[in-house]
Amino acid sequence: MGLPLTTILPLISMFFVSSLGIFVYFNDKKSKLNILFFLFAVVIGIWLFGTFKMFTSNTDAESIFWDRFIYAGAVFVPTLMYHFSRAFCNIKAKKFLLILGYISSVVFLLLSRTDYFVSGLFRYSWGVHTQAKFLHSIFLIEFCFFLFLSIQNFYKYYKSGALGRAKKLQAKWVFIAFSILVVMGLPAYLPAYKIGIFPFSYFSGLFFSVFLAYAILKHHLMNIRVIATEFFVGIIAFVLLVEILVSETFSQITFRSIIFLSFCFVGYLLIRSVQDEIKRRMELQRLYDEVEKLSKAKTEFLSIASHQLRTPLTAIKGYVSLVLEGTYGKLNEKTWEILDRVYKSNERLVKLINNLLNISRIESGKIELNPEDVRMEDVISDIIKELENEAKKKNLYLKWDVPKVALPKIRTDKEKIREVIFNVIDNAIKYTASGGAEITCEVLGDFLRIKIKDSGAGMTQEEISGIFKSFARGETGTKIWTGGTGLGLYVAKKFVEIQHGKIWTESEGKDKGSTFFVELPIK
Ligand code: ADP
Repeated sequence: MGLPLTTILPLISMFFVSSLGIFVYFNDKKSKLNILFFLFAVVIGIWLFGTFKMFTSNTDAESIFWDRFIYAGAVFVPTLMYHFSRAFCNIKAKKFLLILGYISSVVFLLLSRTDYFVSGLFRYSWGVHTQAKFLHSIFLIEFCFFLFLSIQNFYKYYKSGALGRAKKLQAKWVFIAFSILVVMGLPAYLPAYKIGIFPFSYFSGLFFSVFLAYAILKHHLMNIRVIATEFFVGIIAFVLLVEILVSETFSQITFRSIIFLSFCFVGYLLIRSVQDEIKRRMELQRLYDEVEKLSKAKTEFLSIASHQLRTPLTAIKGYVSLVLEGTYGKLNEKTWEILDRVYKSNERLVKLINNLLNISRIESGKIELNPEDVRMEDVISDIIKELENEAKKKNLYLKWDVPKVALPKIRTDKEKIREVIFNVIDNAIKYTASGGAEITCEVLGDFLRIKIKDSGAGMTQEEISGIFKSFARGETGTKIWTGGTGLGLYVAKKFVEIQHGKIWTESEGKDKGSTFFVELPIK
């Protein structure tokens, strides 16, 4: 027994609409919007299934029975669509329209049982349809009225300026899907008025579902593979169901029903696990968004706080250094010493703030590079001059092995590289109790390698693996230099890496000194 295409059409549409309805429902069983959509899919499904049965009926009485079955669903289509549009577009006003809709749906449900609504049949080449009577026309007016209101809601919502980009796209596809359903679906009533056009309307459910599914897939970022699983389970279930419907003997029906039910059971379990997966993914995505938001807020806070702190600190630095230099009169030794301590503490704060600012720039991806041709020997010599005193105070040597032949200039951000080298040499002094540090600079292939070797506290392998992370301090750090923050090497590594260089350290172990290497590309 072969079913003609016209008969199968409503069944195909029904399959798509119901799959989507079930999918949406199981996606969030508590959401009002999803429940409304599910109910809407159910009444559309009743329409399509009833039509299929009406087409395949053997007697007139049977056809009329199934037609009445259709109206049991159809009378709720306009009200449920209107209700859904209100929920989707967050409309609260004019509740009376909704109440009026439901009342009229129930009234028409009762009236559709009478012969004043439909009676008798029109026969067409592709099938049959009941004949519309007086009450049917009134029903049609109500039907169109609520459909019009719904489409108007979707359109206004889509056009309203208040929506974000993703929401607006979603609203657009929902508007399109419902418009197609209305425009394609309404002519399904024509055969009731003796206009025997081929019922293309039964395609509408298919298009409607595909457009809506697209909107959901595209704008809810659900995993395509997950959806595909559901789709294939649905297709197979559908094929098995059709097999039952076209069965000819009782044993065929029994056998195929058992297969269908078993498959439904397994399919259900599969879809359930897939739903869990979606839920987990959505939760993960939500957490991820949250973390990103927090991290952004932190970076912004760091940036604002640091800027605000830097200004007064710079003023303090300026005035204190003027006082120390004797610009406002000579100071006695005690006062000078104290004020010198103030100056140094202030310097530490400035350094900390600078590092915090650097970090906020690094993390928000806003580091700016100002490359220039730099003679590395000059940079190192400058730093040595600045730190010599520190070393001397601790009785440490600071040996700078100035290269005999001038090194090639490198193109780099001078300030940033200065900060890196300064920090490493400063550390070598800080973390060395006796002996000192030796600095060399040489060309190695395409790179310039700066080596800072000290005879200080050294590091274990474990310490080495951590010191380049933010706020990471080694054991020595926490013991020897309590004022540190663990930010210096983190910032140094970032500065070197964005300029395509490398920074690393080697140490033979505790108290065996450490060697820091900084390599920068020459070109
Ligand atoms: P800070 O010095 O403020 O702690 P850094 O990021 O500059 O921050 O250094 C991180 C850690 O690396 C230090 O706490 C210290 O334990 C270790 N470290 C850095 N340089 C040396 C060095 N030359 N010798 C031994 N340990 C070092």
